[in-house]
Amino acid sequence: MPAEVTITFLGGLGDIGRNCAAIETGDELLLLDCGQLFASEDEPGVDSILPDIDYLLERSDRIIGCLVTHGHEDHIGALAQVLSRGLEFPIYGSAFTLGLVKYRLEERNLLGRTELIEVADDESVQIGSFGVEFLPVTHSVPGGMISAITTPQGIVLHSSDFKLDPHPVDGRRTNLPRIGALAESPGIRLMLADSTNADSPGTTASESSMGPTLSDVFRENADRRIITACFASHMHRVQQIIDAAVEQDRRIATLGLSMLKNVALARSLGVLKVPEDSFFDIKDIGDFAPGQTCIISTGSQGESRAALATAAAGNSKWISINKHDTVLLSSHPIPGNEAKVSTMINDLVRRGAEVVHSGLVDIHTSGHGKRAELTTLHTVANPEWFVPVHGEYRHLVAHAELATSLGMADDRVLLAEDGDQIVLGNKGLRLKKKVTKGHHLLLNGDFLGPDRGVLADRLGLGQQGMVSITAVVDFDSARQMCDPWVEARGWLDGDDGREISEQIIKLVSKAIDEELRTADWNRDTLIRRVRRAAGSCVHQQSRRRPMIVPIVIDV
Ligand SMILES: [Zn+2]
Ligand SMILES: [Zn+2]
Repeated sequence: MPAEVTITFLGGLGDIGRNCAAIETGDELLLLDCGQLFASEDEPGVDSILPDIDYLLERSDRIIGCLVTHGHEDHIGALAQVLSRGLEFPIYGSAFTLGLVKYRLEERNLLGRTELIEVADDESVQIGSFGVEFLPVTHSVPGGMISAITTPQGIVLHSSDFKLDPHPVDGRRTNLPRIGALAESPGIRLMLADSTNADSPGTTASESSMGPTLSDVFRENADRRIITACFASHMHRVQQIIDAAVEQDRRIATLGLSMLKNVALARSLGVLKVPEDSFFDIKDIGDFAPGQTCIISTGSQGESRAALATAAAGNSKWISINKHDTVLLSSHPIPGNEAKVSTMINDLVRRGAEVVHSGLVDIHTSGHGKRAELTTLHTVANPEWFVPVHGEYRHLVAHAELATSLGMADDRVLLAEDGDQIVLGNKGLRLKKKVTKGHHLLLNGDFLGPDRGVLADRLGLGQQGMVSITAVVDFDSARQMCDPWVEARGWLDGDDGREISEQIIKLVSKAIDEELRTADWNRDTLIRRVRRAAGSCVHQQSRRRPMIVPIVIDV
C-alpha cells in the first residue's frame, strides 16, 4: 500500500502573504515556499508575520529541501529567519528566484547554511521520495514555476502564483500542454491553486499590454524628467519602462538599493535586454536635461523608507523633486497601503511634480489570474481533489465554489486554513483541523515570538497613553516616606493633566495609608490599591482608560 502524504499549511491560507506549506511522506518533509507577511498599521512595532516555524523546528531532521516557486517576499521572505534558527536544507528554484534568495541570505550571512540548486524550465529533480517537475508559469516576476510533485499518492500540482498571460514580455509562456499531458496520464491526484483573484470575473490583462500605455505617457511628457516606480522584482515592467525610455533616447538610472541589485541580477541573467550604454549612475543626474532621463525607483507602495517616498519628503541624497518631474506609479496599492501611497502622492504634488497613477491611466496589471484563467487551469489539470490556497478566506471560498461550478463534486474540494493539515491516502483526501498553532510574530527586529498580549498593549498605549504612579513606602515602619508622584505619556497634557494628577496623588496616598493599617498588607496588595485608586480617578475624570502602571518602592 502506498504511504500517505500529508500537507500542512503553515501560512498563506486566510491572508495574502507568508506562504509556506510542508509536504511530508514517511520521515521526509519538503517545504513549498517560505514567505513573510509585512505587518499592517494595526500591528505597531511588528516587522513581519512569519509562518509557523515551530512546526519546522520540531521536525528539523526531516527537512530535505525547500521549493521556492518564485521570488516574491510572500514566498521567500522567511527563509533567512528559518535558516538562522539552525535549520539547514537545500533550496530549489529558477535562476532569478535564487538570485533574489541569495541577496536575502547574503545580508544575514546565511549562505553557508544552504545549497542553492538551480532548476531550468521543465526540468525534473528527485528530492528524496518526491519527484518534482518544474514548469514555467507567467506571473509578475520572472522565473515563476508550477511544481508537479510526484508522491507515493500520485501527482500533487502546486500552481504557484500565476496568471495565464498569452503574450508574456519574455515570451516564456505557462506550460499548460505539459499539465494537460500529466492530467491525461497518470492524472493529477490533488491540485493546490492560487486564489488571489478568484472573486474577479474575466481575465487579467497581459503584461505586454502595458508597453503601449507606458510609451504614450513617455511621449506626452517628452520634455520632462520621468520618474517611475514599480515593484523592484517586476523585471517585465522594468523592461517595458526601459523600452519606452530608450525609444525616446532617454538615459536610465535606478534609484533605491533593491532596484539597483535586481536590475543588475536581471541583466546578468539576460532577463533584461538593455542597450549597453543606456544606464548611468544616479549620482550623475545633474549632467542631464529633464527630458533626457528616466529614473526607475523603488517605493511604489509609499513605503516611508523606500527611495521614492524619501525623495517625495525632500530627503533624497540623489534627486530633488521639482516642477519638471512626472512621476509614474506603475502599480496598485496593496490593500492596507492606500494611505501611505496617498501621503506620498500629496508630497510629490506639493513639490510641483505631476503624478500619473493607476487610478488615472492603465499602467498596472495584476500578476494573478482571474476566474477565466482559473477555469482554464482547472479544465486542463482536471484534478481528482482540490484545495484552494494563497488568498484571504473569501478568495478561498470563491475558488472552491468556482471548482464545484465547473463540475467537481462538493466532497472533492476541501477548504483548509492556516494550521490545518490535509492527508492524502488510498481512500482520498481528508482534512485535519489545526494540527499546528498558526502564526508567529516577528517583534522588535530580531526577537521572534508568538503574541502574548504585547500587541494589545501597544495598541492601548497608542490610543489611550499611559499613566504611572510611584509610591515610596518604608515597609519596616509601614509609613509612606513622601507623596506619590505621577508621570504620564500620551495622556492629558498641561493644566488638565496637572489638576487630575493632584487628585490622583491625594487618592492614592489615602488608599496606601488605609492599606497600611490593615493586618495583612504586602507589596501586592499595595500595588493593587494604587492601581485601583489611580485607575478609577483617571477614568472618572478623563473618561479614558490609559494604561495604569503602579510602582511601589520599599526604602
Ligand atoms: Zn504570492
Ligand atoms: Zn507572487
